[in-house]
Amino acid sequence: MKNWAGNLEYSAARIVRPESLATLTDVVASAATVKALGSRHSFSRVGDTVGTHVLLDGLPQEITIAENRQSVRVGGGISYGTLCRVLEDGGLAIHNLASLPHISVAGAIQTGTHGSGVNNQALAGAVQAIELIRPSGEQVRLTPSDGDAFFSSVVGLGALGVVTAVDLAVVPSFLMRQRVFEDLPWAAALDNFPALVSSAYSVSLFTDYSGPNIAQVWLKATADEPALTDLFGARAATVARHPLPDMSAENCTQQMDQPGRWLDRLPHFRHEFTPSNGDELQSEFILPLEHAPAAITAIQKLAGKLSPLLFISEIRTGAADDFWLSPFYQQQSVAFHFTWKLLQAEVEAFLPELEDALRPFGSRPHWGKLFTPTSYDFELLYPRFADFRARAAANDPEAKFRNPLLDAIFGVQAASTR
Ligand SMILES: Cc1cc2nc3c(=O)[nH]c(=O)nc-3n(C[C@H](O)[C@H](O)[C@H](O)COP(=O)(O)OP(=O)(O)OC[C@H]3O[C@@H](n4cnc5c(N)ncnc54)[C@H](O)[C@@H]3O)c2cc1C
Repeated sequence: MKNWAGNLEYSAARIVRPESLATLTDVVASAATVKALGSRHSFSRVGDTVGTHVLLDGLPQEITIAENRQSVRVGGGISYGTLCRVLEDGGLAIHNLASLPHISVAGAIQTGTHGSGVNNQALAGAVQAIELIRPSGEQVRLTPSDGDAFFSSVVGLGALGVVTAVDLAVVPSFLMRQRVFEDLPWAAALDNFPALVSSAYSVSLFTDYSGPNIAQVWLKATADEPALTDLFGARAATVARHPLPDMSAENCTQQMDQPGRWLDRLPHFRHEFTPSNGDELQSEFILPLEHAPAAITAIQKLAGKLSPLLFISEIRTGAADDFWLSPFYQQQSVAFHFTWKLLQAEVEAFLPELEDALRPFGSRPHWGKLFTPTSYDFELLYPRFADFRARAAANDPEAKFRNPLLDAIFGVQAASTR
């Protein structure tokens, strides 16, 4: 079995698709090494195992809106695309989405997946309760009142348990408009960065870091935000755009300030059109928002080396959260995303240079994308990193949920002999 991008073949000796929670629990309890997989949209080997892969899409697909309409209980294998439609039918919404809706809820929150917006937390920010199967088969339900057990488990890289359900905070359904601006001068962007990224509910900058201008700025605004006609000297696009200049906008969510449902504007790509696999790789680095202009200047110095490898880069923002391994942990952040051509060896050879350029700014890599794990001092980057490692070792003494990437991140656990 391969991941979405096709850049990696998983190593699992067997794949199990349980149809009941009881079977899933038995599989987890009896396996020597086991890992849950979601929609396989990660580019890194974070979800790999040599043992058993469990896929949760055979379980009853539960989506239950709470009576008070403040939250929704979502089964572990469900995708945001499915969830969003049920919520919208019920007049509800979630605060933010990633660039595409096809990813699973559990897989997304486990890696700290995010959208954009200075006031918007990553998708994990909506989690009010999480239910996991521990390595022994024990089932636990954790809420913020469980303190450390909860805040370690939500963004957990699959290392603390198999997530069988989450309760997510919901809000009343809302309308949004999307507008693309083109050719924003870099000088104006750097001088006004906080104002620029705060100019709508969700703002994304698309660039290849060459030339004097940012190619595109996507603004996703709620209905009560004023429509902007000027954006620091950029031009409002007169036709719909794809982030890649020579691609048709047919697969993109509607633009040109047309009001629409939140689920049809927050992602960049339409649920019904996005391909199920793609010829691309991705990396992303998240760092404190105040360092954005200096980090951009550092990346611009690498533009000549980036361009042969890069389809496009996207700059987003996110609000702070309290999940121990979240790249947004206790810092308002800017995220530098890179969509690479499917040239894995070349990308991996270049990544250390890019990672070195961003290191002085406290850059944290996206767990589900490509990065060089051994080049980071994660204890320096994540104040609760050592606590997470200790908790994982105590929860999972036989290192069932570990794999080579997690060993590279956390160090090889004593019982981890794979
Ligand atoms: C085209 C594309 C666009 C993307 N856009 C964005 C974006 O806008 N923002 C962003 O931040 N990221 C983005 N990503 C990255 C993606 O969101 C993450 O890699 C995310 O983890 C994918 O979710 P998944 O369900 O595919 O997880 P998988 O890749 O299947 O798994 C990821 C991790 O979660 C664990 N896991 C999965 N399910 C469970 C479970 N039930 N219990 C415990 N652990 C579990 C796995 O073991 C693994 O460690 C994008 C990826 C692609 C391919």
